[in-house]
Amino acid sequence: MAKRGKATIDRDRCKGCYLCVRACPVKVLEPDTRVNSTGTYPSLSRYTDKCIACGSCYLVCPDACIEVFELEGGES
Ligand code: SF4
Ligand code: SF4
Repeated sequence: MAKRGKATIDRDRCKGCYLCVRACPVKVLEPDTRVNSTGTYPSLSRYTDKCIACGSCYLVCPDACIEVFELEGGES
């Protein structure tokens, strides 16, 4: 079974470059339809149950807005 993970995004710091959206191999992330406090449409971790904790979104974010957690019991 693949690793399970969770990516959280600091939506108020996100500048909406969507590098993370493009980097995610399983399409967890997409642009939000609601603006943040700076008037930007931030990235949203929408399909969280698909996350495999690969860390690509975390690595690619230029502003360190993303944290990735590996969920317990996801690997066997
Ligand atoms: S890479 Fe970072 S700044 Fe760019 S959209 Fe994703 S979370 Fe926002
Ligand atoms: S950790 Fe990997 S699978 Fe999870 S949201 Fe980020 S890029 Fe996608």
